[in-house]
Amino acid sequence: MHGLTRCGVFTVRALAVAVALAVTISVVAVWARVAHAQTDELKLTRAVLEDRWRVRIQGFLDQGKLPLIDMESSLEQAQVDEFVPGVLDTFDELAIAVMVADGYQREKDGSQGYRWSNYILDLVNAHPDAFAPVANGGTNPNWLAEKGGKAKDFIDQMEAHIRTGTFASMGEFDFLHYMSSSQCKNNRTDRDSSIPLNGENGHRLFKLAAETGVPFSIHLEPEDRALDALEEMLASYPKAKVIIAHFGQIRHPEVQTRFTPAYVRHLLSTYPNLWYDLATGEPNRTYKCAGANNSDVLKGDTVLWKGSPGLQTAELHPDYKDILSTFSDRFVFATDYGGGRKALPAYLREKHENFMRIIKDLPIEAQHDIAYRNAWRLLTSRAWGG
Ligand SMILES: [Zn+2]
Repeated sequence: MHGLTRCGVFTVRALAVAVALAVTISVVAVWARVAHAQTDELKLTRAVLEDRWRVRIQGFLDQGKLPLIDMESSLEQAQVDEFVPGVLDTFDELAIAVMVADGYQREKDGSQGYRWSNYILDLVNAHPDAFAPVANGGTNPNWLAEKGGKAKDFIDQMEAHIRTGTFASMGEFDFLHYMSSSQCKNNRTDRDSSIPLNGENGHRLFKLAAETGVPFSIHLEPEDRALDALEEMLASYPKAKVIIAHFGQIRHPEVQTRFTPAYVRHLLSTYPNLWYDLATGEPNRTYKCAGANNSDVLKGDTVLWKGSPGLQTAELHPDYKDILSTFSDRFVFATDYGGGRKALPAYLREKHENFMRIIKDLPIEAQHDIAYRNAWRLLTSRAWGG
């Protein structure tokens, strides 16, 4: 009896708690929907946006700082909520003028196929000086499974969105991607991807970029087998502005024998539509998925540095210093932020430090080209004029 009474009291209380909880959850859900209501339009025209960026870049120049445009990063909705606007102080401290960050797909909502998100447009509307409108990134399962041909597919949605003229940049798109050190440690293979650059979706992407003039960045580890297709696509779509991410990152040298300074010079001399970003490793960066079985440790996964792996110094290898100087109009700053990374302000400081290490001995004009002028030209199709 006592037990029943207690049980009965408990049930009434539990019911009251459940009702209160349900009300709270629905209120929170409504609030969340309002807070995350996504626009699909920019408040400002592209011309006005570009002028905002120009003013911010010029402002850093006037302070004697080297302005930076981060040409390749990703932001989750939760990261935007956590770090913006606080991180804008870090942007100012490091002279990061504009971040070109792509978005991930929306949370699951019962809809079929790829769930396009527009929270990056909300971000640009809220902070138009510091962010650029970038399409969703190509790291999602629909893209990695090489789907296409239906309205629910990522590449089909990408074509429709890019042709609206809303977006200034696309990517990063995974083509040939090795596991990161943390993915290897956690036995994750979902981003161990290999999509032929000259396959159907590769052709659709290059064609889209060529016809719209919107630049795009790709993740393509320079494995020997991937380079013929790269050259074929660069030659076939001369108007496509292609940025390859992570210049000089060589994590499986046993199958990346063709990537040498001479080969890089050949690529940059032959294909004026090719750029590289410098979101790449610091001296002696460790890669834990090396070797044929992905189980070896490679100390020094970035070939830009002087010295042999494990003994790299903080100086550029003379060949790469020469390439960055000679072809200074073909490299851009990037930080490669994204889901799973550390807090954005600390991450940006580290990436900024490595970028400064890379450019410190380059001619001053080359530093300005790589820091923001080339990105400006890619985003606006105009030379930087101040
Ligand atoms: Zn990448």
